Amino acid sequence: MYMKKFIAHPRYPEKLQKLYRLAYNLYFAWNYEVINLFYRIDPQLFRTCEHNPVRFLYNLPEEKTASLAQDEGFLFELEKVWSKFNSYLNYQPILECPGDSAVAYFSMEYGLHESIPIYAGGLGILAGDFLKGASDLGIPILGVGLLYSHGYFTQRIDPSGNQRELEKHPYDKSVIPVKELRGPEGKNPVVINCEFAGQLIKAKLWQADIGKTKLLLMDTDIEDNTPYARALTDGLYPADREKRILQEMLLGVGGIQALSAAGCLPNIYHLNEGHSAFLIAARLNHLMANESLSFSQAKAVIKASTVFTTHTPVVAGNENYPVETVKKYLGPELQKAGLDFDMIKNYGLLNGDSETFWLPAFAIHFAGFVNGVSRRHCEVAHRMWAPLFPNLSPLEIPIRHITNGVHNSWISEPFTDIFNRYLGPNYIHSTQEDKIWEKIYEIPDEEIWKAHRRNKQDMVVFLRKRLTESFSSRGYSPSRISEFTKKLNPDSLTIVFARRFASYKRPGLLMNDAQKLKEILSKADKPVQLIFAGKAHPADEQGKKMIKQVMDFAVDAEMEDRIFFFENYDINLARHLVWGSDVWLNTPVEYMEASGTSGMKAGMNGVLNLSVTDGWWVEGCNGKNGWGISAGEFISHPELRESAEANQIYTILDEEITEIYYNRGELGIPERWIEMMKESLFSVCRKFNINRALTQYMNDAYIPCMEKTAKLKKDGGSLLKQAERREEQILKSWQDISFAGFDPGIDKIETITENQELSASCSVNLAGMDPKLFTVEIFYMPDEEEFIIIPLEMTGIENGLARYSGQFKVSGRGSQSLNVRIRPADPVVSEIHPELIKWKPGED
Ligand SMILES: *Cc1c(COP(=O)(O)O)cnc(C)c1O
Repeated sequence: MYMKKFIAHPRYPEKLQKLYRLAYNLYFAWNYEVINLFYRIDPQLFRTCEHNPVRFLYNLPEEKTASLAQDEGFLFELEKVWSKFNSYLNYQPILECPGDSAVAYFSMEYGLHESIPIYAGGLGILAGDFLKGASDLGIPILGVGLLYSHGYFTQRIDPSGNQRELEKHPYDKSVIPVKELRGPEGKNPVVINCEFAGQLIKAKLWQADIGKTKLLLMDTDIEDNTPYARALTDGLYPADREKRILQEMLLGVGGIQALSAAGCLPNIYHLNEGHSAFLIAARLNHLMANESLSFSQAKAVIKASTVFTTHTPVVAGNENYPVETVKKYLGPELQKAGLDFDMIKNYGLLNGDSETFWLPAFAIHFAGFVNGVSRRHCEVAHRMWAPLFPNLSPLEIPIRHITNGVHNSWISEPFTDIFNRYLGPNYIHSTQEDKIWEKIYEIPDEEIWKAHRRNKQDMVVFLRKRLTESFSSRGYSPSRISEFTKKLNPDSLTIVFARRFASYKRPGLLMNDAQKLKEILSKADKPVQLIFAGKAHPADEQGKKMIKQVMDFAVDAEMEDRIFFFENYDINLARHLVWGSDVWLNTPVEYMEASGTSGMKAGMNGVLNLSVTDGWWVEGCNGKNGWGISAGEFISHPELRESAEANQIYTILDEEITEIYYNRGELGIPERWIEMMKESLFSVCRKFNINRALTQYMNDAYIPCMEKTAKLKKDGGSLLKQAERREEQILKSWQDISFAGFDPGIDKIETITENQELSASCSVNLAGMDPKLFTVEIFYMPDEEEFIIIPLEMTGIENGLARYSGQFKVSGRGSQSLNVRIRPADPVVSEIHPELIKWKPGED
């Protein structure tokens, strides 16, 4: 029987309308005074509703709302919170963004708050933080994503240490802080119609408000869809490959439609990871079919306006499909633009494999700005993606780095209070350059220690509750449970390892030498407790084994009173752990952690990092704010490396961490520890705040991209047309162009010394082409890491050969190298054809 569905909202007293509006803006997720309003009404109910204010208000009995509307004290507080919210919305951003430009940010997942379970892990949390930070800084970013019907799996660990994944239940979308997007005058929900490989798929649009930022979410679970299409946005990262590629078609191609249905025409498209790469096809289609651009022109426009962020430091971990599968879905989309898939597919191939289409490769070819998420990751990304740029020097691979950051909402309430009082409340709008962070050093030690103690106490209370829940569900007796939960000690030095359980993160590294670890944990005067949490991907047997290994170790080593594993790592658990631990442990295999962000969250709360110097910690560790594990750096044998690293951890724990932590001064506070906490607070808040990352995206990516796009569009696209004419000529003759001779000016000199002026010359057979079409230049490397480009000047044409010459100075000393090359002079042509570079071949 057909039943049409609709949502009936509760009716709130006029005086509580502001409360209702606060519940629908995720601003509540990082403003404790809003959260505290809800706690004040009914703490028990608010917890039962998993901190979801919309569901909470929905479940409030009418008598309660009626009495609140009469409660002068409550209304006073509501007014205060409301007024702060309004000043926040009206805060003038420091960053200037040209005109009414906007950035559309595409991500497969968003970790915003536990009430909207549309994230799986780090990638999503970063995307959520990104949108929150954009709101704080007033950067006009608009998120695009999917509204899944149920969240990532719930993890349970059975008594033998095996991970169980609970069956997922859909949540009720009508009681989360997301609203249906409505058409003109609020009539009718907005629905987009997509057709992918002949399948009609409709998606309803929802909107989440995150402070000033908006997030558009697509949802296919509507009655008009076939059952298969309805199930498309069921959950994250389905194992069914067809379903997964359809989700990605929806995100990319559907996302472009969604933006237009919502009345947005962004200037910049930012792809967070490769999942959304298919949007390039939708844009080609739009630019070619609607705006009548040629492929080259469309590519130039897309490159000028696309930003791509890669996060995955191993090729295999990147999104890919058999070429045939991509053809099935992308082919029809490209056809609309008059494009043949067989031509476009080359942009998705890698390393000579013609069967696999890589989404990030596709994105990299069409993005004008590509970045990795830490300095170290950028080096890795260069090596990984260099084959996409066979004619560029490895030093020129156009992948930059913008190190990740985390949002201020990861700062706990006690530290937020302290920052408000000592830094002033506007620190949330600050970036790295602001002097404001230096005030952290002026905060009295006692205040810092008090705040940390409170966080730790709260963490222990929270964890005891969690333990009680899991043990009750296993059928343990209350007395046994209470005996066990008491073992969690708020006075013990607490080390936390909480993240996805995956082989490369090596959760078991600490157990490399059982005896040694046991000694460290069980010193009577300096007790240490270890807390683990993390999910293994359902298909990752290795990861699941590691959970079991930790659980078994605790039992076998009789360390159950010192080693704890907490089920179901999610935002809520993460929050308590990064707030309340003393030491945040991270042990990835080097080069495998792209950035890592949980350590930043911990560091912003004065928790000290003990981490392999990889990812963000290469830049973050300064010797004063935590500890770097580096003993494995030059050891390639995995077992030797692990034992070297484990031994280094034991030494640091033994000689530094426990010593400094338990060395208490007169007031009973560990002064040196607090000194390190301050270093951590200062260095991490200043440099690894998402505001710093956003400023970089703005200055290095968005603004230059906006300027470039505007230039291309100017005068009816005259630059594009000019570039196209040049491109045509160059392509015609490119294969016939060759170097006829090159004298770098060094061969006849007996000794070359630094600062010496050299004259280079060369002759080129331009195959009768206009020399103005080309640039001839020397690519000079004073050392392995640097290059200087010296353009040569054309001096004349003789016997059909163009002669070029120029001067340059020897820079520095040591082993150096150079060569000469030719490429198109037009920057637009160069941009769309990075492969058009011809180096003078070697002599042999
Ligand atoms: C921060 C966070 C992550 C990412 O942490 P990493 O250190 O990058 O592994 C994953 N899950 C949750 C719930 C988080 O809060």
